[in-house]
Parts: sequence; C-alpha cells; structure tokens
Amino acid sequence: MLQFRSCPAALALLALLSASAIGHAQSPVNPEILLKNATIYDGAGRPGFQGDIAISGNQIVAVGSFDAGQPLQTVDCTGLAACPGFIDLHNHSDTQIIAPATRSNMNFVLQGCTTIVTGNCGSGPVDAGAYLEKVDAAGAGTNVAHLLPQGALRNNVIGLDRRKASPQELEQMRSLADKALRDGVWGMSTGLIYVPSSYADTAEISAIAEVVGRHGGVYASHIRGEGVDLLKSVEEVLEIGRTARVATHVSHFKCSGRDAWGLASQAIAMIEAARGRGVVITADQYPYVASSTSLDATLIPTYARAGGNRKLLERWDDPQTGPTLIAEIEASLHKRDDGRLVRIARYSPRPAWIGKSIYAIAEMEGKKPIEIVRVITENGGAGIVNFSMSEEEVRTIMQQPWVATASDGRADLPSIDKPHPRLYGTFPRKIGYYAIRENVIPLEQAIRSSTGLPADIFGFSNPDAYQAEEPRSGRRSRGPRGSSLPRG
Ligand SMILES: [Zn+2]
Repeated sequence: MLQFRSCPAALALLALLSASAIGHAQSPVNPEILLKNATIYDGAGRPGFQGDIAISGNQIVAVGSFDAGQPLQTVDCTGLAACPGFIDLHNHSDTQIIAPATRSNMNFVLQGCTTIVTGNCGSGPVDAGAYLEKVDAAGAGTNVAHLLPQGALRNNVIGLDRRKASPQELEQMRSLADKALRDGVWGMSTGLIYVPSSYADTAEISAIAEVVGRHGGVYASHIRGEGVDLLKSVEEVLEIGRTARVATHVSHFKCSGRDAWGLASQAIAMIEAARGRGVVITADQYPYVASSTSLDATLIPTYARAGGNRKLLERWDDPQTGPTLIAEIEASLHKRDDGRLVRIARYSPRPAWIGKSIYAIAEMEGKKPIEIVRVITENGGAGIVNFSMSEEEVRTIMQQPWVATASDGRADLPSIDKPHPRLYGTFPRKIGYYAIRENVIPLEQAIRSSTGLPADIFGFSNPDAYQAEEPRSGRRSRGPRGSSLPRG
C-alpha cells in the first residue's frame, strides 16, 4: 500500500532527510552529480557542516566526506547551504495538485518544498484511496501526503445540518475514518470555524480521532477560536488527545485580533506543560502577521452559516434573526478597524476590488462596509487577507522548538488575484527574513522547522537515519509510528 504519493524528481531532496548522517562510503561513489563544499544542514537542528552531496538518478547516495570517484558533473557549492527538501505540513492544494495547470506545484517547488500535506482544516477528499490514485496517475511536482478532512467527512454523512451526530452516523464516520487510514492518510484534520466541521462537538471529534490514534495517525486541528477563545480551544485539542489517545497538532498557531493579543504566551505555556507531562502536541505556523481565509468565515458567526449561503441570506433578511446577525457582523467589522484590516484576495465579480480593503471599497462605492459584505455574500463570497496578528507574538510562537513551518497555501498560478504571499514565500521568508536577517531563530532551527520537525510530527522520518554510518536511500524505512517512507 502506498501511503505517500511522489514524483521521482522531488524524491532526491527528500531522501537527504534520511541520508543526513555523514556518509563514510568505503569505495568511490562515482555519482552523476556531486555538490561540492556545501554547508550542509541535516534538518535535525544541528549547525551546518562542510561537506559534499552525491546524487545518482533520483537518489542522494552520499552526504558528508567520501571518495566521490568520477562524478559526471560537479557543482561548486562554496558559500551555499544545502538542506533536505521542505515539507509543507499544512497545505490546501487538494484540488490544485490534481489539476493539469497546477499539479506541478511550481510555487512550492521554487520555495524548496518537496512534500506537501493536504486534507487540512477539515476540507478535502474523504476517499483518500481514490484521491491518491489520481495524484499518482497524473503525477505531481511534490510528494503528497494526505489527512482525512473531518468537515468533508461530516458533510458526506450528515450534510450541513447543525446538530449532533446520531449513534449510527457516528459509527459511519468512524468506519470511513478507518477506511481512510487503511487507504494511507497520516491523520485527520478539523476546521472548527468552518461549516460543517464546527458542528461537531468535542465528544464527536474525539470518537473519530480515537480511530486515528489506533492507527498511529495525528489529529491536526484548525482550532475553534484563534482569538479570545484561544486558551479554551487549545484545551479542547488537549482533551481530544487525552480521550482519543491520539497525537495532536495545532494548525497555523496564532493569536488573532487585537483583543486577544497577549494570549499567545499563555497558550504556549499550556502546550509546554502538556509536553512536560509527555503529551504529544505540536503546532505549525506561517511566518506572517496576516491570515487568509474566506470573508464569511472571518466576519459571519458559524451559526448563521449553517445550511449554506442561501440560508445565511434568509437569516440576514429575517425580521427575527436579521437585526442580531447584522449587529454581529458590524461588530466584527468594527473590531477589524471598520474593515481596513480585511483585504480582498479573490473575487471574480469585481476584479477592481481585489487587493483593496473592505473599508476602501465601501468608500469607493459610496456604501457602508456591511453593504459591501452583503454584496459579496450574495455573489458567493470572496477570499480575503486579514491583518490580525502581532509581530511580537508571531516571533514568540516561531521560537518554540515544537512549531513547524507551514504555508496554509496552495498550488497557484499568477493571475489577477492577490493571494496571501505565503503561497509563494513561506519558506524563503522564514529562513531569509526571520532567521538570517532578523535573527529570531538560528538558521538550523528554521531549517529543522521546515524539514525534520514536520517529518517527525507525521512520522515520515526514520529516527535511526541520523546516526546511519552508511548513506541511506530513505526508501521504505519504518517511521516512529509505523508509517512507511515514500517509494520512488
Ligand atoms: Zn485553517
């Protein structure tokens, strides 16, 4: 059973992760390509060391000091750093990675990323077997690992209704989860601000996560609240970990909204304390102060979105529910500087609005910000960028050794849209800006957070590989949770 979909070209860089120990090949390696005199970062967090890297075919066959013999081609890497390919453990390319125009995943390949994890925030394909077959059939520019998306799973079984799952429905979700894990997902994700993921209570998620834990998978959560509810939401993750006996992970860890600033250090302390007790909990982060999602998920309460857009508009116009809902959306806009902090990233009906804030659009159109929100909602919604975080807290979160780098982005082609820059710049920004220029973390930590750490979180890596005496191919090794590494 293949658990990890891959393209051969991308494997070479990934393989370095497992072949990261200094090689001591006895006989000449005679590689096709020799990278000479690089400063090599192994992804385990150790400082760089001088050495060579030998590549033959799709494999890194030696790393460190060895007799290279007669390479076909030598590349002088003096003054350059080499490291394993980056793993983007929080990616949303589920659709794009099988679409002809974007399956090369070029905006991630160009960042040095060789593996992405899809199925995040509760959305994506539920039938992992069929999805991974499609990835393999067409081929993708990066390796692809997948998570079972709980929101889509709930939608398949219950639909968009805001209610408890019946015992039969819960059993059905558990059995689909079992199938997905057998088909090769590495865990399950939730998106607890989205419909219908958010309609699952803690007990329901825990019951499904228990199946994930039994298979050695990870529970990764876009938590219920990233603002003033941050601590309560982290506590829910911990509770699910405890009751389901599953490794847990907080997706795009942040403290969102001025009224919540200051909570990050308390959330970190909670996670540190849990880790101190032996709880398996990690997190990831994109290195920016702005987030990006849909306009409705940002401004409109989840209860009002139950049943989809049409229902939402009905509630908006209803004399009973309308006034409260409008007041809530206005309060939400007010909290975001009357819409100045929310910029449109994607909205095909009005290209001129793309890149502008809700406030600026309202001024331009001679309307109130909430009227702009209404128009966008009537037209099916928009993608937005939300300037919601404090730079200081972004840096504090980044410094935690259990926080991986992840984009929360997707495969993309340049267009009239103005997507969040994380789609193109997550890994270079983490390393170039935060590590090298700003010294927020050492370079080796920035590299580990993008390579060894995400591999450890999902169990992609072979823990013995770092101590290997002989160069390793990185194929079919057993991971810490019984998972298998990619096959070529
Ligand atoms: Zn998310």
